[in-house]
Amino acid sequence: MRTQVLGVAFDAVTMPEAVERGMAMLETPEPDYIVTPNPEVVMTCREDAKAAEAVGHASMVLPDGIGIIYGARILGRPLPERVPGADFALGMFSQMAKSGKSVFLLGAKAGVAELAAEKLAAQFPGLRIAGTNDGYFKDDGPVIDRINKAAPDLLLVCLGAPRQEKWMYANRDRLNVRLMAGLGGSLDVYAGVVERAPESWQKLNLEWLYRLKKEPKRLGRMMKLPKFLLCVIGERIREK
Ligand code: UDP
Repeated sequence: MRTQVLGVAFDAVTMPEAVERGMAMLETPEPDYIVTPNPEVVMTCREDAKAAEAVGHASMVLPDGIGIIYGARILGRPLPERVPGADFALGMFSQMAKSGKSVFLLGAKAGVAELAAEKLAAQFPGLRIAGTNDGYFKDDGPVIDRINKAAPDLLLVCLGAPRQEKWMYANRDRLNVRLMAGLGGSLDVYAGVVERAPESWQKLNLEWLYRLKKEPKRLGRMMKLPKFLLCVIGERIREK
């Protein structure tokens, strides 16, 4: 079942359900891809038809960000819970490790994916790291060749939104992978380059505020959040 929030259709799943579905996608030959929009990405999709098309074709759309959960609630069609992309992938890794499945890490600045790979390999014995590549490349061809040679089960595409969504949609038929997930800044988090909010902040749903405190330059981007909530309220009034 999917829940519409300002034109983006989210899967109404809990974290364990999302991981179960993701694991099932690893068993089918066609290259599925998963997106994890936050309110900022939803607002981008309203202005960028190509981004909306890429998000709309995903096999699973997970609500990353508490704003989406509030938005869905205001619209009267609540989603079960927030499913942050970075946590979703950790859930996948712990299942994948049991059967020796492999992941390729694509994205972030030079050296970050390698560092993330080292940390993930230590955290999930049994998980195979098929390869890494930074996210600052011009030509897709050589990168796609590298990924295809490694033939991973899962490919994390961490190029920032909406580039990563467009990249997965455009290249899905050229890639020899079972599943892709567009996960923004997750490699920075796994590598320890960017600190995740302490659990107490996460529990209070204030992860966004912690990020803003650490990176005040995000304020411009985050101004999309109040706009998002105003649009949601507008839609709610129109739907009544
Ligand atoms: N990035 C990249 N290539 C680019 C632009 C960005 O690999 O051309 C990476 C960037 O280094 C960072 C991630 O994409 O690791 C985007 O992180 P951000 O925190 O902006 O994404 P969010 O999690 O907010 O979607």
